[in-house]
Amino acid sequence: MYLKELTISGFKSFAKKGELGFSAPITAIVGPNGSGKSNVAESFRFVLGEQSVKSMRGKRGEDLIWGGSADVARGNRASVTITLDNSNRVFPLDFTEIKIERVVHRDGQNEYILNGSAVRLKDIQELLASANIGSTGHHIISQGEADRILTANPKERREMIEDALGLKIYQYKRQEAERKLSKTVENVAQVESLRREAAPHLKYLEKQVQKIEKSLELQAQLKEVYAEYLRREDSYIAFHFDRLSVLRKPLIEALAVAEKELTSAKKTLQASESQADSAELISAEEAVSKAIGERQSAEREHSKCEGQIALLERRLADAERRSTSVEGKAVAYADISALIKDIEQQVSKALQKDEVAFLHRALSDIIHRLKLFIERSSAVKDTTTEFDKAELSRLKEEIVKLQKQVGEAQGKETAARGVYASLEQKRAQEATDGREAERAVFRLVGEQRELETKVERIDRELIVLERDRTEFKRELQEAVALLGRAAADYFSYVIKSEAGAEVTPEELVNEDRETQRARRHNLEKLKIRLEELGIGATEDVVKEFNEAKERDAFLAHEIADLEASIIKLRELIAELDGKLEEQFVVGIKKISFEFNRFFTLMFGGGEAELLTVVTKTRGADEELFEEGEEVEEKKEDGIELVAKLPNKRVKGLEMLSGGERALTSIALIFAMSQVNPPPFIILDETDAALDEANSRRYGDMIEELAKKSQLILITHNRETMSRAGILYGVTMGGDGISKLLSVKLDEAVAVAK
Ligand code: ATP
Repeated sequence: MYLKELTISGFKSFAKKGELGFSAPITAIVGPNGSGKSNVAESFRFVLGEQSVKSMRGKRGEDLIWGGSADVARGNRASVTITLDNSNRVFPLDFTEIKIERVVHRDGQNEYILNGSAVRLKDIQELLASANIGSTGHHIISQGEADRILTANPKERREMIEDALGLKIYQYKRQEAERKLSKTVENVAQVESLRREAAPHLKYLEKQVQKIEKSLELQAQLKEVYAEYLRREDSYIAFHFDRLSVLRKPLIEALAVAEKELTSAKKTLQASESQADSAELISAEEAVSKAIGERQSAEREHSKCEGQIALLERRLADAERRSTSVEGKAVAYADISALIKDIEQQVSKALQKDEVAFLHRALSDIIHRLKLFIERSSAVKDTTTEFDKAELSRLKEEIVKLQKQVGEAQGKETAARGVYASLEQKRAQEATDGREAERAVFRLVGEQRELETKVERIDRELIVLERDRTEFKRELQEAVALLGRAAADYFSYVIKSEAGAEVTPEELVNEDRETQRARRHNLEKLKIRLEELGIGATEDVVKEFNEAKERDAFLAHEIADLEASIIKLRELIAELDGKLEEQFVVGIKKISFEFNRFFTLMFGGGEAELLTVVTKTRGADEELFEEGEEVEEKKEDGIELVAKLPNKRVKGLEMLSGGERALTSIALIFAMSQVNPPPFIILDETDAALDEANSRRYGDMIEELAKKSQLILITHNRETMSRAGILYGVTMGGDGISKLLSVKLDEAVAVAK
């Protein structure tokens, strides 16, 4: 026996706590109309998880709670506890006894308590289904509901039979699987939608990352090209700068020397061309002529003096002779000739000089001589002789002076001539020097020009190099800004030739500039490409991309997992469907057999069976379809009843009498209970419509049934009561509260009335 006890408290008319023990296979509950018997049956439904308040004759949950009477105030909660034996572990729980309690509160809140722990309704349902206590209530037949199985449609009937066959557990599992399936399908859709939503961003990030990778690649390339370019440029500039500086230095020195030499040569030249020397020479020349003049004049004076002396001496001699001879003696020819000769001499001298002064002087001299001659020749007196003698001695003194003068003048002339000669020599030397200086100037200017040209050429190269160096500094700064400090370490970069050998320093500095310019051009192109990629904060993007990718992979994995579980769930559903179908087919045959057996027993013949039928329905939402529209019809398996009464031609359940209907449904209920006996069956006045003979048959069948299931029978029927091991009477006093009491058969019969 599974059913041990039922405790009702605050449920409907059971305002106070009442207990029912079920120690016998058959328990009958008896009592007058309206005493609360059906409330007991409903308390079973309630505690077993019934969700339809209507099936418990209420509208709302609070209708199940003691509503109060004139004497006793209403309750706030209704609670029913059922105690089931689990010593043989019918219920898959490790307890020997199972206590299920359900409480409903006025606010409609329900509580389910399993062995003291709050659980969900679902847990209760599954637990009960595992012991074939289904929720369709095929084992609780309410009052007037005996023929519910007859009035039900094939589909509902099928459900009842499935429940009775204990297939509910599979259906729960199936429902659970379906629920999980739809949830999983929903999840897949959600995850797919998440993935779809994220896809454009992921794609965008992927593109960004590709760009970043491209940019990193370009940067690496740029680094290489930059390193080579900078190293080459720096080496080139430094080398050629040094080279040109080395070349320039001696040229500058040579230029300075040339400049100095040129200055000196120019000075020499200038000196040679100077007028000062010639003026000096002229004055020296003049001094010579002057000295000559002075000497000649002195000589003339001297000669004149000499002549006078000779004349006087001759006259004195003449006077001597004349003093001895006749006065007035003729003039001697020799004197005349001497006179003439003298005159001629003077004239010729004067003419030689071709100077007026000389001529003048010569003429006056001639006149003076002639006068002297005439004087001497015409009148010679003794006084003259005296005079002449005096004159002669004076002249002799004079001539000494004059001689000295001549000597002095000659000395002066010699000196002047010496000065002139030395000046002349100096001038000649200077002329020679000038010519040489001129040649030197010419040579030096040429040299200078040549040197300057060379220096200019070097300077032009240096200017280019200087410009290159400024540009190089700028480029280096740019490289550092672009690639970081490492870009400045270009000097350690090893440049290799196309053949793979390291480039020598000579090759490095002697490369064609065009190649370097091409390298520069390439650099610019790379930079432009990099700029075009326009990459900003790369780390963040890569991180975001990796996260997004991971998330996408996670979602893809999630989808795969969900799809795998969809497959598994579908397999499970198919498996459950298979089991359901298989067990249903087997079960329905058995029930059909038992149905026929109970039916023939009840009616003493006839024939009854269950048929599996396929009905076509248009689905629950058929009203949604427009008229004339093609509607997909749903095929549903259902159960039809076929019952043929003995000796009657009537067919069809509708044609049966109330009693016949009751018997037919009892036969079916019993058949169902036989195939898969539930732990207990509650029958609320199922026997109400039976006459005495049928009541007995009913009683017999109850006893047979009680072998497999515990029976709780609510009845007014004495026959039924007589079959019960335990009898409870339900009474209701003026306070409207149902009370339970254990009664004997006789009392029961009395109570029931
Ligand atoms: P019958 O033999 O005529 O079928 P019964 O013994 O089965 O009668 P029930 O239908 O179980 O009687 O009980 C009905 C009684 O329970 C009524 O008197 C009704 O007023 C009372 N009742 C139902 N619900 C409540 C409630 N929430 N509070 C108080 N009393 C209630």
